[in-house]
Amino acid sequence: MTTWQQIKRLFSQDVSSETAHSVSLTVQKISQAGEHIRRITLGGAAIRKLPALHSGSHIQLLFDKQGNPVTNTVTCQDDVIERPFTVRFCDPQMLLLTIDIVTWPGRSYGPARRWAQTVQLGESIHIKGPWPGPRLAAEADEVLLAGEADAIPAIAHHLETLNPASYGTVILHCPGMSENIVFSKPPNVQIIWVNQPDSSLLAALQQHAPAGGSPAIWLGARPDDMATLKAWIAQTYLSAAHYIQLTAYTGDEDPVGSLSA
Ligand SMILES: Cc1cc2nc3c(=O)[nH]c(=O)nc-3n(C[C@H](O)[C@H](O)[C@H](O)COP(=O)(O)OP(=O)(O)OC[C@H]3O[C@@H](n4cnc5c(N)ncnc54)[C@H](O)[C@@H]3O)c2cc1C
Repeated sequence: MTTWQQIKRLFSQDVSSETAHSVSLTVQKISQAGEHIRRITLGGAAIRKLPALHSGSHIQLLFDKQGNPVTNTVTCQDDVIERPFTVRFCDPQMLLLTIDIVTWPGRSYGPARRWAQTVQLGESIHIKGPWPGPRLAAEADEVLLAGEADAIPAIAHHLETLNPASYGTVILHCPGMSENIVFSKPPNVQIIWVNQPDSSLLAALQQHAPAGGSPAIWLGARPDDMATLKAWIAQTYLSAAHYIQLTAYTGDEDPVGSLSA
């Protein structure tokens, strides 16, 4: 197998969408998980139709072409805009799921972030899903997690599911965010926030990530940055890393496609 084939194998992931459904849910609770993180809990009996839903899964919020939340059964997929989000918490008994939508300043908002800013309790929206989210290798001792602001929910989920004895580094490149959120994490995982506007995720990794070792790696980054990040990972860790996963953070309408870079 060539080196390039080895890299492609490391970056690929099989994802099944057999269990994905489109259902209508109602907004049950709205709060702020941070100054720039809108926490929205959706609920309804339709959660029973989603037995594969778990914390860390992905769902799509559905909007019409005018950017309004879809409230009726979708008859034509072409009329729908889909936006992927990470399920932060899921309570199948109480029929609830919670997502965190990052509304950082200085970026233009599309339909999903506009909805997050304006939605009211009791309003409904159709969602589609779930798709399984990427998991870190269960046996991972050392980890390297990194991402832009909208990867915060996925990173928070990873940190909550790690073995408490894990150690490693989390690098969050969040220019424009004034606050740094407190995570529930293993004590030996260090969190580094890079809030400077004139840096990039790659520069943050080059400056702060430990060189070498064999960490399990998860990165959530902009699609445009994927190629350079892959090259940097291959240079820095390929010989030793046993698990590497990149997620392209985009409004791409196909979460399956966005799972492997
Ligand atoms: C698997 C997956 C899980 C995700 N989970 C979450 C989550 O839990 N919470 C969360 O807040 N976000 C999450 N995202 C990111 C979110 O889906 C996108 O940011 C989405 O585009 C937001 O939709 P929107 O309608 O608000 O903006 P859009 O209409 O998609 O975009 C509005 C503007 O912002 C630009 N833009 C969008 N995304 C980016 C970006 N990453 N970098 C730079 N410019 C951008 C667009 O080009 C456009 O100009 C996830 C993405 C993926 C792929």
